[in-house]
Amino acid sequence: MKLYNTLTKKIEEFTPLNPPNVAFYSCGPTVYDYTHIGHMRTYINNDLLKRTLKYLGFKVKHVMNITDVGHLTGDDDRGEDKMEKGAKKTGKTVWEVAQFYTDFFLKTIKKLNIEYPDILCPATKHINEMINLIKILEKKGFTYETKEAVYFDVKKYKKYGALSNQKLEEKIKGAREEVYIDKDKKNPADFALWFKRVGRFADHTMHWDSPWGDGFPGWHIECSAMSMKYLGETVDIHAGGVDHIPVHHENEIAQSEAATEKTFVRFWFHNNFLMVDNQKMSKSLGNFYTLDDLKKHNIEPLAIRYLFLQSHYRSIMNFTWQSAKAAQEAFKNLVNKIIELKQEEKKLSLSKTDNKKIEDYKEKFKKAISNDLQIPEALSIFWSLIKSDLTPSAKLNLIYDFDQVFGLKLWEINHLIPEEIIKLANKRLILRQQKKFAEADSIRKEIKKKGYLIEDKIINNTLFYTIKKI
Ligand code: AMP
Ligand code: ZN
Repeated sequence: MKLYNTLTKKIEEFTPLNPPNVAFYSCGPTVYDYTHIGHMRTYINNDLLKRTLKYLGFKVKHVMNITDVGHLTGDDDRGEDKMEKGAKKTGKTVWEVAQFYTDFFLKTIKKLNIEYPDILCPATKHINEMINLIKILEKKGFTYETKEAVYFDVKKYKKYGALSNQKLEEKIKGAREEVYIDKDKKNPADFALWFKRVGRFADHTMHWDSPWGDGFPGWHIECSAMSMKYLGETVDIHAGGVDHIPVHHENEIAQSEAATEKTFVRFWFHNNFLMVDNQKMSKSLGNFYTLDDLKKHNIEPLAIRYLFLQSHYRSIMNFTWQSAKAAQEAFKNLVNKIIELKQEEKKLSLSKTDNKKIEDYKEKFKKAISNDLQIPEALSIFWSLIKSDLTPSAKLNLIYDFDQVFGLKLWEINHLIPEEIIKLANKRLILRQQKKFAEADSIRKEIKKKGYLIEDKIINNTLFYTIKKI
């Protein structure tokens, strides 16, 4: 499989360190507010990558963290704690806030048919692992302590900035507009590994004992500690949104490689943004939509998944209600096509299966997904298959096969038409064959009232019907 690697800025041949096993880590959510469809664009694309790898025969072990501690409002060390901010807003404790939004996140990914990670690890349950990693960094001389925190000294890590191609001097310039700076910090790009419960954090509610005093971990250290704990010192793929490249992931690399002296991540996989009116959809800008907002516009979760299949993970995607509604229409159309195929499959005795064509479709599909995840191309191959002259059962087999990657739950469509509707449709067909057209028509109307449409079809000189959802 070919995959773009943010580290080398090239599309490379992906092979895991220990084939067929793939060690896959994805940065999870910060659980202080409702997760929105911007996050979901990243998580759906991570899911597409994971499903593609499995489809191609790899065995994926997927670990994802939940940031339920100490993530400040800026990606660097500025601002207040997001969890404390969320608690203030809702009048709950920080622990309740984290639990509530974790549950909300998990419900959201389930509705979108995003596969659950093999290991889902909350930061608050891994404080010891983080402390141990900081101790190693301290022993190796990569840290320094101020009254307020323990910092990673970026000047000591020579390769700092390789992922985002930033020179340290540029980074220092960029960080000058910080709202808050610990006056004893040596360099603005240094980042906190451990915050002490003093000064602006004196009332911090989440805190633990440590060799550097009572306090809480910085954000970046959690991903390194948990990734190493569950996947070893080197992982095959580490995923996240592009906003994580310049700070979070640079810092993860620096602290991990300083500690282990080994490559931390072989492939960096970054998803581009979902935008609204040319701005990133984000919690802080308040321009975000949740699945509930979409439901109010009659857009179902799997239609949103379908919407995201239409653009490549490395391109920016603009969210509009028009495109969301079009995706809902297209998804409904797809569901109806499958209902139709299911019905035809039962009625038509199998004509000769064209194995050559089936193999061609499979080949083309595989080629698209293994070319840096060209899902939009795979989707168009999928539609040309549906419109082809293959037999209904051959089409259905391929549809279910390809949907292992798309994750649109197409095999569940089996049960979509209630028995009652099918009985009425059969009754109508018999009435039509008996030329009792008026009675047949009144049954058609009855069916329509119940939300289904009957369409007549002549196949091999015989009259059939198909049922569609309205
Ligand atoms: P956060 O909870 O802010 O750490 O975000 C969780 C994940 O969603 C991260 O990997 C972010 O990079 C990603 N993300 C946040 N906003 C967007 C967006 N508008 N489009 C795509 N991905 C996003
Ligand atoms: Zn992370």
